[in-house]
Amino acid sequence: MNTQRTTQEWQALDAAHHIHPFSDMGALNRAGSRVIVRGEGVYLWDSEGHQIMDGMAGLWCVNVGYGRKELADAAARQMQELAYYNTFFKTTHPAVIELSRLLAEVTPPGFEHFFFTNSGSEGNDTIIRMVRRYWDIIGQPERKVIISRHNAYHGSTVGAASLGGMDYMHSQGGLPIPDIEHIDQPYWYAEGGDLSPEAFGLKVARQLEEKILAVGPERVAAFIGEPFQGAGGVIFPPDSYWPEIQRICRQYGILLVADEVIGGFGRTGHWFASQHFGIEPDLMTIAKGMTSGYIPMGGVAISRRVADPLINEGGDFNHGLTYSGHPVAAAVAIRNIGILREEGIVERVMNDTGPYFQRCLKEALADNPLIGEVAGTGLVAGMQLTRNKATRELFPNRGEVGLLCRDFCFANNLIMRATGERMLLSPPLVISRSEIDELVSRAQHCITLTA
Ligand code: PLP
Repeated sequence: MNTQRTTQEWQALDAAHHIHPFSDMGALNRAGSRVIVRGEGVYLWDSEGHQIMDGMAGLWCVNVGYGRKELADAAARQMQELAYYNTFFKTTHPAVIELSRLLAEVTPPGFEHFFFTNSGSEGNDTIIRMVRRYWDIIGQPERKVIISRHNAYHGSTVGAASLGGMDYMHSQGGLPIPDIEHIDQPYWYAEGGDLSPEAFGLKVARQLEEKILAVGPERVAAFIGEPFQGAGGVIFPPDSYWPEIQRICRQYGILLVADEVIGGFGRTGHWFASQHFGIEPDLMTIAKGMTSGYIPMGGVAISRRVADPLINEGGDFNHGLTYSGHPVAAAVAIRNIGILREEGIVERVMNDTGPYFQRCLKEALADNPLIGEVAGTGLVAGMQLTRNKATRELFPNRGEVGLLCRDFCFANNLIMRATGERMLLSPPLVISRSEIDELVSRAQHCITLTA
C-alpha cells in the first residue's frame, strides 16, 4: 500500500467505513484503532513507528513469520500464469493438484484426499455437510447429530459457530442450528473441583458416551474437538481425555473430527496436534498455518474411511465455493509448506525452540502469584490467572483481569491475547531463542505489573 496518510487520517477513515470483527465499534471508534503497517519476522510496526513483538503470530497463523519474499513471489508467479480457475466442472489445475499431493505427505497416514475452502469456518461448515453426507451414503441417514464441547471455537459462520460452544456467539443470531449438541470441556483448572486431572479428564470424556446414549447412538454422526482448545484459552486436556474420547467414538462407530485450524502445520512440534495427543481422526479441519496467513485458505483432510464412500458411492457432493482450491492460495500454500520443510521449522519447534520456550516461561512465572499454571507444548502456551494459587480460586469477574493485562501488554508493544482468565502466547514458529528470551521477559514484566 503506497497511500500515505497520518495515523489520525487512517483512524478517521477506519471509523467512518470499516466494521471490525468481534469489536464494540462505538468504543473502538472513540479510542481509535492502532494502524499496523509492516511486518518482519516476529515483529510488526505501527503507523507511529513503534516496533511491536507479535506473541500471537497474528491470529495463530503466521507460522513462517512476516515478510517472506518467497511467498510473495509464489503468489505473483501464479497470478501471472493462472490467476483463477475453478475445479467445479471437470477441470483442475497444477497448483491444487500439487498442494493435495504435498498435504498427503505431511498429514498423518491415511489422509490422501483434501477439500479446499477459504477459511477454517468454511472448513467446519464443510465438515457438517460431509459427515452427514457420509452417513447418507452408508445408509444411515438418521445419523445427523454432531457433538462438540462448551467453550470450543470452530469459527464464525452459522454452521461453525453452532459447532463452537461460545455462549456469547450463540446468543447473537439464534444459534446453534439443530442437531448440534455440546458436552463439557476438559478444563481441569477451573472446572475440575477436587478431582485429580486424570479423573476429571475421564469424567468429562465419559460425558460423550452419556450424550450419545441420551441422543440415541443411531442418531449420532460425529464428535468434533480441537486437540487443545485455542481461542477457549489454550486448554490442554488431561492425558486421560483423548484416549477415552477415541475409545467411545470407536465403540459407537461415530466419526472423530479434529479441528486442526490452530494446531496444524507445526504449532506443537508435530505437523498436526492430533499427533501430539495420539488422536487418529477420520477428518481434520485445516487452515491458518497452511498458508501462514499470507492468503486465505482452509480445507478438510479426509481419511480413507470417509473418502472411499464419498468418491465411489456418493455421486455428486453438492458443496463447493467459487474459490475452493484457488490457484494463488494453493501456490502460496505449496511454498509455505516447502519453507516449513526445507528450514526444518517443525523439527526445531519439537527439539529446540518449543522445549526452550516452555521451560523459560514456566521458570519465569513459577513464583508469580497471579499465575496458577502454564499449560502448553511446542510454541503455544496458556497462562492461568488466579486469585489464589493454592486453592485455584478464580477472580470474581472472570476475564477482566485478563483484558487489563492484554491491554497493558499492547500499550507496551507486546501482543499477548487474553481469553477469560487465561493469557495466551502462540508466536511465529520461526522465533529464535533470543527472541523467546525477549518475549518471556516482556510477558513476565507485564503480568507482574498487572498483579
Ligand atoms: N477452528 C479453530 C480451532 C479456530 O481457532 C478458528 C479460528 O480461530 C477457526 C476454526 C475458524 O477459522 P477462520 O477464522 O479461518 O474461519
